[in-house]
Amino acid sequence: MVNAQTKQNESTTDTIEEKLYVNRFCPDTESHIKVNPTFCNLCSGKECTKFCPANVFSWCQLNDRIIIGYENCLECGACNSGCPFEAIDYLHPTPPHGIL
Ligand code: SF4
Ligand code: SF4
Repeated sequence: MVNAQTKQNESTTDTIEEKLYVNRFCPDTESHIKVNPTFCNLCSGKECTKFCPANVFSWCQLNDRIIIGYENCLECGACNSGCPFEAIDYLHPTPPHGIL
């Protein structure tokens, strides 16, 4: 029989990936996150690829731009303040879309 302490220990040993896996999403057909490419191209640190907890942003060297996997967004809002060039325009997804 699993007691409460065992359950608590199990939950604290879950990896971030395992915890993210339990989220359920209803993605919109259009992204609720937009990036201004003019400002974005000035950014050498690509900070959004580091601070976003859901790995929504990835840098595409081939096309020299940020790719946005908005479907996985956790709606934490960090990209509004985390982008050093304020190049990210974030709005919460329109209900019923987003995290369920
Ligand atoms: S942090 Fe902002 S400016 Fe830098 S790569 Fe990401 S979106 Fe572009
Ligand atoms: S709101 Fe949070 S999870 Fe969504 S893209 Fe911005 S930093 Fe990533």
